[in-house]
Amino acid sequence: MTARVLVVDDVEPNVRLLEAKLQHEYYTVITAFSGEQAIIRAQTDNPDVILLDVMMPGLDGFETCKRLKEDPRTRHIPVVMVTALDQRQDRIKGLSVGADDFLSKPIDDVALLARVRSLSRFKGVTDELRNREAVGKKFGVIDNATSRDNGQGARVLILEDDAKRSERLRRTLETEQRPMLMEEANSLGPDGQASVELMVVSTSGVAFDGLRLAAHIRSQSVTRNLPILAIVDQDDRQLSLRALELGVNDIISRPIDEEELLARVRTLIKRNRYVESLRSNVDQSMEKAVTDQLTGLHNRRYMESQLSGLLERAKRGGAPVSVLIADIDHFKRVNDLFGHDAGDDVIRQFSERLASNFRPRDLACRFGGEEFVVIMPETLPEDAMIIAERLRVSIATEPFYIGRNRDQIDITCSVGVAVGSQLDDRPDRLLKRADEALYSAKQCGRNRVMAQAA
Ligand code: GH3
Ligand code: MG
Ligand code: MG
Repeated sequence: MTARVLVVDDVEPNVRLLEAKLQHEYYTVITAFSGEQAIIRAQTDNPDVILLDVMMPGLDGFETCKRLKEDPRTRHIPVVMVTALDQRQDRIKGLSVGADDFLSKPIDDVALLARVRSLSRFKGVTDELRNREAVGKKFGVIDNATSRDNGQGARVLILEDDAKRSERLRRTLETEQRPMLMEEANSLGPDGQASVELMVVSTSGVAFDGLRLAAHIRSQSVTRNLPILAIVDQDDRQLSLRALELGVNDIISRPIDEEELLARVRTLIKRNRYVESLRSNVDQSMEKAVTDQLTGLHNRRYMESQLSGLLERAKRGGAPVSVLIADIDHFKRVNDLFGHDAGDDVIRQFSERLASNFRPRDLACRFGGEEFVVIMPETLPEDAMIIAERLRVSIATEPFYIGRNRDQIDITCSVGVAVGSQLDDRPDRLLKRADEALYSAKQCGRNRVMAQAA
């Protein structure tokens, strides 16, 4: 994957130098020579990573970063601050305005590429989710915007086998987070462990290999997305690079600056919560897009897409697919006599009975109004008739309850059954045959099951 990097510096030779290094690694580079320009380019070109110089006339790097992170259009773009060597205050200030990482001048090639690679990977994930979220919003299935989060109060697991060091880490983190040590995590149980939002892993452990552990965490499906902050000895550059390559999200070096630790932890948690909220928004929208809101059954769109797949399989020699359409008898009367809400009560209870009458692999959906369709894969006609009759009986023999007083009323339904022919069936043809069978059932007096041969 090649990413687009926005390089911002007021000194042109600095820009050209970074540009050359990045282009050499096949990154696409866009440039800006001031904070003001950077903001415009970030809005219009949606870069994957921004390398932002701190010292600039006009808008300096901090102010630029702050504005980028406040703007919903650019908030998601990772920013790497480029500071003069060892400017501790700059680093702390940068993190507090939302910078995702740092590089010190003169810029080390390997560190540069490692940072750009790991941040652009993160951007790839969020872009994908943001796109899907945007689609969800367009179709009205996502309504809440992702909220701003302060990145605090998270369960943070500390993996450090030196007792004194781990105690110190815990005390520092306690001011903003809910840190715990390995021993405590073991007594949490699976649910508690799943609530861990970040791991801080020491790479100088004697009893365990921190890097191996990080790689393991990355490879397991349940912990794949868990952010990891690795602690590395100051001079161990090779180890830092290995760690980033293995998927560690950020690195802090010893001796640990407490403020920097807190700020990095906050940034990682904030970033991860953002991704998780996008993820769950997308999941919810997928769920909503295939679900009927009144009954929680699948909706027609979903049913039709599943049905065509099943018919394809049947055509290629798979088992036949049966469908039934059930329609509530004289439903209009329910509405007319007891009101629309009572009608809704009946539809909901009908759905519950319908759902409980079928096997897990059958697909029950609300087809519209008071009509329901059940798709029964690998089901022969005679079995489909038995199942349909069982449904009819379960509706007719037990009363329905409506309104606040749970008044009882009797409901019946008519059912049409059709079986997919192995030849040329399409969803619409199969459903039409079931509908014709339903029509016959209505004609013959309702409260009955009829079948339609192919
Ligand atoms: P039949 O036995 O021939 O099926 O008669 P019916 O009255 O059930 O059929 P008809 O198609 O004439 O009327 C269906 C009614 O269902 C009309 C419509 O207002 C009502 N309806 C459709 N969707 C809903 C809904 O979500 N809630 C409620 N309460 N009523 C609905
Ligand atoms: Mg009806
Ligand atoms: Mg109807």
